[in-house]
Amino acid sequence: MTAPEAVVIVGESIAGITAARELRARGFAGRISMIGDDPHGGYSRPPLSKVVLKDEDSEAGIAYHTGDLALEVIRARATSLDTAGKKVFTEDGRAVSYDSLIAATGAAPRHLARPGQRGEMVLRTLDDARKLRARLDNAATALVIGAGFLGMEVASACLTRGVSVTVVDSQPPLQRILGPFISGQLAERAVERGMDVVLASGPVELVDDPVRGARLPDGRVIFADVVVTCAGDVPVTEWLADTGLADARGIPIDERCRTHVPDVYAAGDVAYLVPPAPAPAPAGRAPFWSNAVAQARVAACTVLGQDAPCTPRDDYFWTEIANLPLKVVGPLPVSGEPTSIEGSVPDGNALLRWDQPSGQSTVVAFGKRVPVGRLRAMAAKRPTQAPS
Ligand SMILES: Cc1cc2nc3c(=O)[nH]c(=O)nc-3n(C[C@H](O)[C@H](O)[C@H](O)COP(=O)(O)OP(=O)(O)OC[C@H]3O[C@@H](n4cnc5c(N)ncnc54)[C@H](O)[C@@H]3O)c2cc1C
Repeated sequence: MTAPEAVVIVGESIAGITAARELRARGFAGRISMIGDDPHGGYSRPPLSKVVLKDEDSEAGIAYHTGDLALEVIRARATSLDTAGKKVFTEDGRAVSYDSLIAATGAAPRHLARPGQRGEMVLRTLDDARKLRARLDNAATALVIGAGFLGMEVASACLTRGVSVTVVDSQPPLQRILGPFISGQLAERAVERGMDVVLASGPVELVDDPVRGARLPDGRVIFADVVVTCAGDVPVTEWLADTGLADARGIPIDERCRTHVPDVYAAGDVAYLVPPAPAPAPAGRAPFWSNAVAQARVAACTVLGQDAPCTPRDDYFWTEIANLPLKVVGPLPVSGEPTSIEGSVPDGNALLRWDQPSGQSTVVAFGKRVPVGRLRAMAAKRPTQAPS
């Protein structure tokens, strides 16, 4: 395989920047063009909901530094791709040629507003976080739609800021991915600390223009000074229209982060892994930070024709809800009671483990301080069963 001379990366966030860093670390000296449409460049998103909503000063620490990577940075939106001519077109009129292309355009919030309905708030970017923080400065009440990890983090930030908050979802908090046991514990903690958790029997509808609340399927309307939608995200693939690279789930990739188009690779929240047959069909994207890092490293190695140092799947994520940090390693979702509990769940200081039918384990540090490396080791190795 001939090494490429020019690599174009679209998406200047953790996946794109990790790919660039891996390319340089492995000796790639050619041109790396980084196309990104966020005016603030690359920064870490996890702190947006955990600290930036609460503390303006925390913004100073979230930027990714790329000065050492000798990148050609193009701050513009990629609008289309010509895979035959190997060019990316940008909104400011450029045609950027590549030998290899890494698509890392991530995901964007799923909106619930009707076309033309104004005032729906979401949280994905630094600008979103600044807007939301400013709105919370003058709010007494907030309504968060969606009780996934993002919605629960936003609601937790509201509580910390003294804003009375209601969270609405058709499922209990985080139940979709963390199962009923952890969900129940988290909901209890959140309610104890003043969060109002409302279970809706189906989808809610945003009311008024600008949005001032949401109507539940039973007709009840909840109004609030600030309404935030945290209803999942969708892969950003418009710029790939007519290339056949993406479907509704994102960009399918193989274990080496290759797409089905030669010299085009993808990583991060925009991509979903299709395991080789006869493995079960892909579950879809796994939009977490550690996955983005792992896939970006694999994609960079594949571009260079080198072996990858890791697999393109990293089942680790963390969150912080009602002041309780959670670290999770292993396949999700989990269901039922944990196989083992070490420590005290009510005190928020426990290590939980689910042994999955697949032979793998899922380990959760529930408020307990445990290094990620130890969690990974525990998830990889089942305790030997005592002889009966
Ligand atoms: C508030 C928040 C908190 C989170 N907390 C956690 C957490 O605690 N733990 C965890 O594991 N994960 C967390 N995540 C998820 C994690 O941040 C994502 O998995 C990660 O950012 C994915 O990285 P990415 O590079 O694939 O995509 P993104 O971070 O979405 O970046 C994609 C980049 O591409 C750019 N782009 C998009 N389209 C174009 C285009 N056409 N042209 C040019 N540029 C384009 C975008 O501007 C963006 O900069 C959180 C996410 C959010 C929003």
